[in-house]
Amino acid sequence: MFQEDIQFMSKEDIESLQLDRIKKQVKHAYDNVPMYRKKFDEIGLKPEDIKELSDVSKIPFTVKNDLRDHYPYGVLAVPLEQINRIHASSGTTGIPTVVSYTPQDLNTWSDLMARCYSCAGVEPDDIVQNAYGYGLFTGGLGFHMGAERLGTMIVPTATGNTQRQIKMMKDMRTTVLCCTPSYAIYLIEALKKAGVSPDELNLKIGMHGAEPWSEEARHHIENKLGIKAQDLYGMSELYGPGVAVECSEQNGLHIWADEFLVETIDPDTGEVLPPGKKGEIVFTMLTREAMPLLRYRTRDLAVINWEKCECGRSHPRIMRIKGRSDDMLIVGGVNVFPSQIEDILVGIEELGEQFQIILEHEKLDILYVQVEVKEEYWGKLDNDQLAKKVSDALQASLTLRARIELLAPESLPRSEGKAKRVIDRRKGI
Ligand code: ADP
Ligand code: ZN
Repeated sequence: MFQEDIQFMSKEDIESLQLDRIKKQVKHAYDNVPMYRKKFDEIGLKPEDIKELSDVSKIPFTVKNDLRDHYPYGVLAVPLEQINRIHASSGTTGIPTVVSYTPQDLNTWSDLMARCYSCAGVEPDDIVQNAYGYGLFTGGLGFHMGAERLGTMIVPTATGNTQRQIKMMKDMRTTVLCCTPSYAIYLIEALKKAGVSPDELNLKIGMHGAEPWSEEARHHIENKLGIKAQDLYGMSELYGPGVAVECSEQNGLHIWADEFLVETIDPDTGEVLPPGKKGEIVFTMLTREAMPLLRYRTRDLAVINWEKCECGRSHPRIMRIKGRSDDMLIVGGVNVFPSQIEDILVGIEELGEQFQIILEHEKLDILYVQVEVKEEYWGKLDNDQLAKKVSDALQASLTLRARIELLAPESLPRSEGKAKRVIDRRKGI
């Protein structure tokens, strides 16, 4: 098993390592990131004030907007020459969230991902097909580096091209399929259409994450593909995928607590909640060099379980993500903020101010954007051309295709209070 000693560390050992690391990390952030120095100075907190793990609650939070405000390199704790790679995910207003890595960070991330594979049951002689997106998105390269570190063979198919995906799976005798849960469900249908029975495949394990999915979806994937479908959690700000993963018990996702200190807070008051209470998950990265984020608010709502797992691991578990405390939508694994769509629409002269986002799920998530055309343009333009222009602009920013419906002026319902911009008709896959 990969890094077996770390996977099975006792709670006491984890906590003493955490304390040792947090002290160094707070000093690193304070000394090298002006944003942290300012946050600390404002409340008169010094790195030396962190003496116990419980002192962590004194540290101010970091939020996604902090990264946006310091775009692109403002939160770096090392000189730019020491950065080896960046990744980026969508931000709330079209400014992407850029994350940076030193060679040591990439090394740690590879270890974390290799540990995830290993904890989920993957072995070095497995053949891993990686159908996550390669590129600025952390999914592709994260799953790739982890498999490489574990020593498996990798088939880097990346997203899309389902026919080739199926051919590779069959011909290469893939045993581990890495993709979003919604893509796994789509693949089941595609296999049926292509007349390929799962018996002709060698699949054994699915590594599915990047979006919420239900226990029903897990059973569907497991039954139809004849695999164990494992949940994996992560986010770009915390390296990417690899923060937490399910073990064979499939009863919560183990957070690698030697690298991530986790807390649950009340999203409204910021107060730390006792174990077992549902709240917003907050992470502190314990060894990240390039971007030592402290108390990073994920906006993800969940319950953390600190009891030792049946599998023997003491790393705490996220018991399934229960939603978010902001308005971020996850469409086919891609993060989309309604404000991002609004920003694009406002920039197109022919469009009015009223719009609506509708989400549906037919095999894959579909994003509809309904938007009114301005009075002076309505009926005077080629609607197909305008719809294409809107769709192209959204694609450039969101990296996904929306279906555009242009509406006559004043046809969308007006509301007196907060406009209801999003209608989610997906029934939870
Ligand atoms: P990722 O590569 O994991 O999609 P992003 O930074 O793009 O990273 O998105 C992170 C967000 O995706 C998380 O904050 C969470 O809301 C969602 N997410 C990631 N993995 C899971 C999972 N296994 N279950 C539920 N939501 C997830
Ligand atoms: Zn376990």
